[in-house]
Amino acid sequence: MESTTGQVRSVSGARSEDPPSGASAGVAPHGALLLDDPSPEGAAPVGLEISGGPTIQTYDPRTGQVLAIVPDQSAEEVRASVARARAAAGPWAALTYKERARHLLVVRDRVLDSAEELVEVICAETGKQRAEAVTTELMAVCETIDWYAKHGERILRPQHVGSGTMAHKSAWKRYEPLGVVGVISPWNYPFTLSMTPVVTALFAGNAVVLKPSEVTPTVGLAIGRLFVDDTWGDLVQVVTGGGATGDALVRSGVDKICFTGSVRTGKRVMAAAADTLTPVLLELGGKDPLIVCDDADVPMAVKGAVWGSMQNSGQTCMSVERAYVHADVYDRFVALVLAEVASIRQDDTGSGDIGAMTFGPQVDVVEAHIADAVAKGATVLAGGVRPERPGWWFPPTVVVDVDHTMDLMTEETFGPVLPIMKVSSVDEAVLLANDSPYGLNSSVWTEDADLGEQVANRLQAGNVCINDCIVSYAVTGLPFGGVKSSGMGRVHGAEGLREMSNVKSVLGRRVKLPRELWWFPVPKHLDRIAIAAMRARFGTGIRTKFGRSGRA
Ligand code: NAD
Repeated sequence: MESTTGQVRSVSGARSEDPPSGASAGVAPHGALLLDDPSPEGAAPVGLEISGGPTIQTYDPRTGQVLAIVPDQSAEEVRASVARARAAAGPWAALTYKERARHLLVVRDRVLDSAEELVEVICAETGKQRAEAVTTELMAVCETIDWYAKHGERILRPQHVGSGTMAHKSAWKRYEPLGVVGVISPWNYPFTLSMTPVVTALFAGNAVVLKPSEVTPTVGLAIGRLFVDDTWGDLVQVVTGGGATGDALVRSGVDKICFTGSVRTGKRVMAAAADTLTPVLLELGGKDPLIVCDDADVPMAVKGAVWGSMQNSGQTCMSVERAYVHADVYDRFVALVLAEVASIRQDDTGSGDIGAMTFGPQVDVVEAHIADAVAKGATVLAGGVRPERPGWWFPPTVVVDVDHTMDLMTEETFGPVLPIMKVSSVDEAVLLANDSPYGLNSSVWTEDADLGEQVANRLQAGNVCINDCIVSYAVTGLPFGGVKSSGMGRVHGAEGLREMSNVKSVLGRRVKLPRELWWFPVPKHLDRIAIAAMRARFGTGIRTKFGRSGRA
């Protein structure tokens, strides 16, 4: 069978014996062309001839040097991948849930077997620290496979529903595969946010075509390799390229698009999908608030707020992007935040607390938001200035004197920045938290369990953590997704699995009657019989049950 590695053959036209001058190059096990001695920041790899079509190159964010070159695949190549996936979809859909689970557990074993190599691939293209890659990428995916292998069959097996007045009928719903699911993923968690929809779609009986971000395509290709074997080699196809390749996938006739990325691109995806009425699941951006009440355990809230805003260098859709802190604890909170931020180890060793940012242009966004805030009266208490070093680095940054006139408090910053605003009450904090077009995750800190739940209920968000932040995503049983501009549909949980299915309603016969009452010829007094039956069945008391019908 054609494997996903087949898709990088056009790249392998540049042979490993023909490196760019001054550099050595090799075809990595996962298919991309990797440069061992990369060229300087932004420069094309000198003398490297790639035959077989257009390409894109990726960078090591820690150094800014070119890392790999992969094909920029055309709409025709995308359609060919969809066709291969479709051919594999039928036999896969015919398997039992247990058989599908067994194969996904084999894939999970491959993840475990190659954990160290996968971590290297992820860190090289994202600038993450190794522990971040292990916990938020590999472990999160293992957890998801585990949960669906254990609970998936129960969620998807046919379910009977009451048949109401038609008691002689039997009614049930069944969940059927969609066919081929297109997955388009972003660069911030290139493994988790590709694998989660991929394995969910597979468990539901679909084949998949994955289009990873053009910033992190070698992670996508490594994912493709996890699925390559003699039996199911075509089930997961990986296509590499930029926005045009993603657009081609949306228009390729797939049966659903699972898109994770920015609001701007999400709107484009939805508009393109409207042409073919292709259903879409959209996991988009956020501007997640964190509320600290006056009774909070302040040192703990500080730990959470700093971790939640800085982990993965702030490049998490659920990052804490703004904090609202009660005036009674504000000064202490800010002082402890500064001490905590000063202790963050940001380096390129791979074993610090945070690493580089992943995407060069995102650093520009962070700088622009800080400049806008400062111009409008904000004060930077820590960080705030891009360091003079190669690669894409931005220091942990704390900003106060902020308000909702500033982009830093209203637009997604996606960097290691914690803006803190003083509030006089919980009501004010909730009002400000909800004053946003986004609604992804949110966080409230209080020692009063009732208050925590009340605030959680009032927050306009798809997800809320009480006395924590971000980590609700790690509980696979909880559906994850956004409200408002943060998206539609859910991943994880029963809802996430059913997103990947068509629900078919079936009405069968429980008892055979000679005829149905409503068939032709309609009985002469059916109207009166039906009114009497309706009153008897739905009336809430003796009078409505038998009143007028009794007199009639
Ligand atoms: P992006 O929107 O720029 O790109 C996402 C993907 O869409 C990439 O693979 C890209 O190639 C593809 N794409 C671009 N144009 C396209 C088009 N016209 N049609 C189809 N596909 C197209 O997002 P990004 O910068 O890679 O990721 C960061 C964004 O993702 C942030 O806004 C972040 O909040 C969001 N995000 C959301 C979640 C979530 O679960 N809600 C998770 C992670 C990231």
